[in-house]
Amino acid sequence: MTNEMSTGKDMGESRGFSEEQKRCLEETLGGLAQLLPFAGVSADGRITASPLLAPVNLAAPAEAMLHGTPVGDLTKQEKWKLDENPLDIWEKLVAHAEAGRRPDEPDTFRFKYHGLFYVAPAQDSFMVRLRVPAGILTAHQMHGLADLASDLGGGYAHVTTRANIQIRELKPRDIVRVLVRLQELGLTSRGSGADNIRNITASPTSGFDPGELIDVRPFAKGLHHYILNHRDLYGLPRKFNIAFDGGGAVCAAADTNDIGFVACRVTRESLARRGDQPPAEPGIYFRVQLGGITGHKDFARDTGLLARPSEIVAVAAAMVRVFSENGDRTDRKKARLKYLLEKWGAEKFIEETQRRLAFPLARLPVEACEPPRPFAKHGWIGPHRQAQAGLSYVGVGLSLGRMSARQMHQVADFAAEHGSGELRLTVWQNLLIPHVPDASVGTLVRILQKLGFSMDPAAAAGGFVACTGNAGCRYSSTDTKGHAAQLARHLDKRRPGIDVPINVHFTGCPHSCAQHYCGDMGFLGTRLGDGSEGYHVVLGGGMGDEQGIAREVFRGVRAGDVPGLVSRVLDTYGRDRRAGETFVAWSRRHTVGELQELLS
Ligand code: SF4
Repeated sequence: MTNEMSTGKDMGESRGFSEEQKRCLEETLGGLAQLLPFAGVSADGRITASPLLAPVNLAAPAEAMLHGTPVGDLTKQEKWKLDENPLDIWEKLVAHAEAGRRPDEPDTFRFKYHGLFYVAPAQDSFMVRLRVPAGILTAHQMHGLADLASDLGGGYAHVTTRANIQIRELKPRDIVRVLVRLQELGLTSRGSGADNIRNITASPTSGFDPGELIDVRPFAKGLHHYILNHRDLYGLPRKFNIAFDGGGAVCAAADTNDIGFVACRVTRESLARRGDQPPAEPGIYFRVQLGGITGHKDFARDTGLLARPSEIVAVAAAMVRVFSENGDRTDRKKARLKYLLEKWGAEKFIEETQRRLAFPLARLPVEACEPPRPFAKHGWIGPHRQAQAGLSYVGVGLSLGRMSARQMHQVADFAAEHGSGELRLTVWQNLLIPHVPDASVGTLVRILQKLGFSMDPAAAAGGFVACTGNAGCRYSSTDTKGHAAQLARHLDKRRPGIDVPINVHFTGCPHSCAQHYCGDMGFLGTRLGDGSEGYHVVLGGGMGDEQGIAREVFRGVRAGDVPGLVSRVLDTYGRDRRAGETFVAWSRRHTVGELQELLS
């Protein structure tokens, strides 16, 4: 062949093919057609699957794929992400703010990458959700958030079930000012919504819990900063939750997360109990639990993996990447880690994780670790001794996580005056003031009580959790916070004589942000036949050492009838329980039919 055949331009536009070249081409393509009967050439010179029908151009670029999924099969949210990377929309945010404009549907999704939730029609405004790793805030930051809430928002904030802060009723024109003010406080809201890893949670008493195995703050913060600085850890198939439990007294709900790292102690005795030679020296490790999603009635399960503390940020990042590259991007309902684990099995997931790590993952059966300590139920309310001699932490009960700006300033002042200037948010929608000298605890508790904060672990409000509800979330069927507050007031007034802490969870839709399947009592909002608000009622759920999915006992209870029903449940438990029997144990002792009969 001559040089003239080397470019299409020369071939097509100058002299065309010589007779010899044409014969050579025909022979070659003819031979190809015989060898590969699906290959042919169409009249216009394209190489096709069939020279007659010419339906596919084999020379055309293959359809674009995202992690092995054809773009055409992706959900609309995935296409929005491809059309415009939500991390790169700063100019759009500024333009929207300048015009006071509401975002359209794709941009409503993209804005959530920046923690900005346009929550119409529930409220014609934005909510901002922060990232507060391990739930740790300084008094200075709390003051700043209080100012932000009163200057630009509705004058209040909520502590969420991810030990995080949300501020609502922000006007469209203020969204950029909100982001700038958060950054000036040393805070961020980046990646707190949409298909991203949510706030990294941790045992709220980390670093001062007398019984903890390890202080997990460095891991929660380390992973938080790793995520913020790696773009490939944004834009997952769906949201993703990670928690660290250091073995302290207050439950971090790790088993409700996609990945739960739970500290454990391995001793010579615990190894000996196993009777073999597992690859572990005595020490403190983390067990790795995977696939929790309680709204889909599943807890994270132990994988048999044992991670050294120095390894867990790398293990977490590798697991997130395996999920990102292999999770389902064609169906939002199946786009959580649980479903990849069901499709693959945990072993394949671990193998894929191992391929991304430079060190071998260790395995150890759970029985070869010391059993975990039981949690102190409602240990997040009232005063408790710290590991440091002479210091205590004081758990402050908030009403369903809500704090007015004034209350935010107050708790910040108390943390600075009586503690070290630090505050800890909990996944129970409350907060702790740590490092209070024992001599000041009594004074602080009296002041907090006088101001209306709950200090009593037996008070109903301490164990109540409620999602946003229809006052601020368009998915909600009911006013969860309003109904939960009514019930808490009813119980505190009525004092049914229950001397054990009870957790009550109200959630407005099956997304289950308040984890209704994990409370002693859970309420799932629904609309009744006549359009009024009601609840399906589940009993006997729990997390950690009480782990179990609550069972549905009643359907479609009118919201106004809930306080009466709960009184009946508690009275019946009080009469029927055995000595020392917890509410969970009592309710699980009975079948659903027996409970219905007892309570009817
Ligand atoms: Fe909204 Fe449903 Fe979450 Fe409640 S559970 S905040 S209604 S999405």
